[in-house]
This record gives sequence, C-alpha cells and structure tokens, in this order.
Amino acid sequence: MKTLTLLGSTGSIGTQTLDIVREYPERFRVVGLTAHSNMDLLAEQVRAFAPEMVAVGSETARTQLALLLADCPKKPEIFVGEAGNCTVASEAPAQVVVTGIVGCAGLLPTLAAIEAGRDIAIANKETLVAGGPVVMPRIKAKGVQLFPVDSEHSAIFQCLQGVPEGGLRRVILTASGGAFRDWPVEKLATARKEDALKHPNWVMGQKITVDSATLMNKGLEVIEAHWLFGVDYDHIDIVVHPQSIIHSLIELVDSSVLAQLGWPDMRLPILYALSWPERLPTPWKPLNLATVGTLTFKEPDHGRYPGMNLAYRAGRAGGTYPTVLNAANEEAVGQFLQEKIGFLAMSKLLEATLDAHRSAGIPELADILDADRWAREFVKTQVSRAATQVLI
Ligand code: NAD
Ligand code: MG
Repeated sequence: MKTLTLLGSTGSIGTQTLDIVREYPERFRVVGLTAHSNMDLLAEQVRAFAPEMVAVGSETARTQLALLLADCPKKPEIFVGEAGNCTVASEAPAQVVVTGIVGCAGLLPTLAAIEAGRDIAIANKETLVAGGPVVMPRIKAKGVQLFPVDSEHSAIFQCLQGVPEGGLRRVILTASGGAFRDWPVEKLATARKEDALKHPNWVMGQKITVDSATLMNKGLEVIEAHWLFGVDYDHIDIVVHPQSIIHSLIELVDSSVLAQLGWPDMRLPILYALSWPERLPTPWKPLNLATVGTLTFKEPDHGRYPGMNLAYRAGRAGGTYPTVLNAANEEAVGQFLQEKIGFLAMSKLLEATLDAHRSAGIPELADILDADRWAREFVKTQVSRAATQVLI
C-alpha cells in the first residue's frame, strides 16, 4: 500500500490521479489533499478518500469546507494558503507527493515535500522550469525519487528503463501543434480565449491549454526535460505529431530510436509515476494502430510560435532566465484569459521580459522568488503602459 498526498486535487491532474486511486484501492491510499478553490469538489474528495490533512486557498475557503464537512465522521485537519500547502506536503505521512498545482505556486510546497524525504510525482512543470537550479540539488541531497507525470517526459522515462548510463544521446519531444495548428497564420492575431481553449487531443486545465495553443507548453517541456534527464539543449528536439499517439522518443548513442505509444490519456503517465518500477494491469482500451491508420510528423513552425525559441534561449542562458520566462508567461496567459491582451501579445511580452532581465550566477531560492516577482510586475507594467499600443 503506497500512501499519497495530492497537491491540486481538484484540477485535471488531481482528479485523474484520484480516479486511479479509486481503481486500485488495494495499492494506493490518500493521506493529504490540497486545492485552491472549488470546496464542493474538495469536500466530496475528503468524504471519498478520508485524508488526514488538507490545505485550501483562503480563510473563506476553510470556513466553507468546514461547513461542508460538518457531518463528516472523519474530519481532516485543515490548513490555509501557501504555508498550508507546505505543511500538508511535508507532514502528511505520504511516500509520494503528486504535484498537480498549476504554476510556480507549486515550488515551495514541492521543496517542502523534498525536504521531508517524500518522493515526487511531478506534473507541475513550472516548478522545474522556474526552480530547477534549486530543486534538482535538493532531490539529489535528500536521495528522493522524481517521477515525471507530463506525458512526454513519462514517455522518455519509460523508454529509458534499461538504457545503460551514457547510452542516451537525444530526446525528441512530440507536440500536437495546439488549437491553432490548422489556422492560417494571418488569423492568429484574432484568436480569442474560447478558440485557444479548444485543444484538439487533450482535456486539461486552462493555463496549460493556452500554453499548448502558443506552443509555449512545448518550450516549458524542453526546459523540464533538461532538468529531468540532464540533457543539454542541443540534444532536445521538438517534432510536431498531430495525432498525439507517440508521446515522445529517445535516440541512443548507437542511433537506435525508442518511442512510447498510447492513446492521449493522462491516466497512464500518472499510473506509471505511481507504480514504478512495477507495471499494473489496466482495463483501458488497448492501442490499435490499424484504427489510428496514419502517424504524421513535421518541423515545428518557429515563426508562428516564437515561444519555443524563447524557451531554448532562456534555457541556454540559465540562471533566472527560465524563471522570468515562466513567470512572464503565467502573467501573460492570465491577462489573455481575462481578455486584456491579444493572442500574439503573449510571446511579445515574454521576449520583452527576457530582454530586460539580468541574471548572475547560479541562483539561490531567494533569487528565484525575486526574479519570479520581478517578471510578473514587469509584464503587468508593460500591459498597463501598452494598453493603447500595437503590443495589445
Ligand atoms: P488545473 O487548473 O486543472 O488544476 C490546478 C490545481 O491546482 C487545482 O486543484 C487548483 O485548485 C490548484 N491551484 C491553482 N492555483 C493554486 C495556487 N496558487 N496554490 C495552490 N493550489 C493552486 O491544472 P492542470 O491541468 O491539472 O495542471 C496542473 C499541472 O500539471 C500544471 O503544471 C500543468 O502544466 C501540468 N500538466 C497537466 C496536464 C493535464 O493533462 N492537465 C498534463 C501535463 C502536465
Ligand atoms: Mg506534456
């Protein structure tokens, strides 16, 4: 029986992780849950999984949850805010902490879990992008395991099983191409929130769906792959594969290429992160290549989607450049979702942030938190100043 804490339990990753716990009650038990909002769903989850500790986003949410659980026979301790997330991440007696929080808000709770010796199943890519230089040394120092949940990185991790040290030459991330892959480039300027939120292959939270439409998600995944697999940026490639059947590939030093295939379904990468090194049988629909028919591939269009090149630029520059790229992106996506800026303004804001940033040496946690704050403010200022300019 493996004990789990789930950060961001009401989100897309969170609810799918709980679906797996439901399917394998003899294998997994939930001891901690956290969610920012949606107390109705969190209350249902508490009743179904009886965690010992939970954390919520605000005092109002705590009051609401306590009321919803008034007649619940097994009431968990309720904590609040970022500190509350850190408490649950570190103190609930879990072997594995699944990080399904969206954004850099996951960084401190993830670090708290690592310090407490918990293994991490990481979905929350922004934590690695923003905080790789502090997260990875702590993982090593504490001797904890880091299991990728992102489907591409899970594919790479699965392909790497049995590959000897020094055998890996290149990783190749597949990209669906996002919501606008079939749009004429001239039309992108008019792309609206509701268009960006229609992902062709995956159903996910709003932020990552917008990131998929800009292909910034693939850029963030390049940096994520760098930290997870220790591969330099010259050996991380992207190929567009609209069917999302091949989830990513690795090339070995002898030029052999290995791929992992499956339907686009996050439950498999989540399950593998939780069951590694075992393989658990599932009743899920097996892949049938004859039904799929055709798998196609093409070069990503960097002119149409500048976010990927910005990620390579930030990753190669190192220091706090990836941190500010990530923070600027979180802020820009937030502004786009509030319909304050247009689709093309997002990448322009990211480029302006990288241009304006200065980073020195290997950052400490405080430098990362400062850089994150600076970039969010920078983007807010640019947006308010540029309200009447072409940027918007
Ligand atoms: P989501 O928006 O559906 O859920 C986010 C969860 O985090 C919710 O439970 C929410 O309450 C909580 N949360 C939001 N802001 C918070 C804050 N400031 N502090 C604490 N908790 C907060 O997002 P998602 O699609 O599940 O994505 C979660 C993470 O997983 C992201 O980093 C995303 O890039 C990554 N990911 C998601 C998928 C997917 O299929 N959804 C696939 C690969 C990677
Ligand atoms: Mg992915």
